Amino acid sequence: MKIEWFGHSCFRINDSLIIDPFKAGSVPGYNPLKIVGDKVVCTHEHADHSGRECVQLTDKQCMLEIREYACWHDEQQGALRGPNTVFVISDGEEKLVHLGDLGHFPNNELLAAISGADYLLIPVGGHYTIDATMAAKICEAAQPKRIIPMHYRWGEYGYPEISTLEPFLDAIKTTTLADCVAIQELIRNN
Ligand SMILES: [Zn+2]
Repeated sequence: MKIEWFGHSCFRINDSLIIDPFKAGSVPGYNPLKIVGDKVVCTHEHADHSGRECVQLTDKQCMLEIREYACWHDEQQGALRGPNTVFVISDGEEKLVHLGDLGHFPNNELLAAISGADYLLIPVGGHYTIDATMAAKICEAAQPKRIIPMHYRWGEYGYPEISTLEPFLDAIKTTTLADCVAIQELIRNN
């Protein structure tokens, strides 16, 4: 699978599917997005995930298989921040999971759906989403082959109230650190 990171929680998969483009000006530091793709999906309707207008759609069909799982943006069944959708994406060979702004430990059905992914895209910045400790717990439970952290602050990029990547890297030190860092560098250099 080809995975490109555009910052915050926005990725393009196999040059085709765009997940969670942020609206212009919604996330500090990032320039407005301008991405070409065949399809765009959003995990929820907050401005930092629902910038569909930033995507220039082709007339090609997206060939990826996309499954959706309903969950919540907080630990109170959406009472604080509303619903969230988890996307499980397959290209026939590899499985990628994008957790959006997940706000709680997954229930059994969701945990089964996201388990054993080749790539787990997981929010780690806390405040609006699960924090580093909970993210590490979910990684241990879901056993992905590679972890791609997202929705955190780095340099001048991202919300000041969310955490940097380091607490998450500390929290998963005993399990999947190597893979995590390798992928992170790969994406940043893209
Ligand atoms: Zn968000």
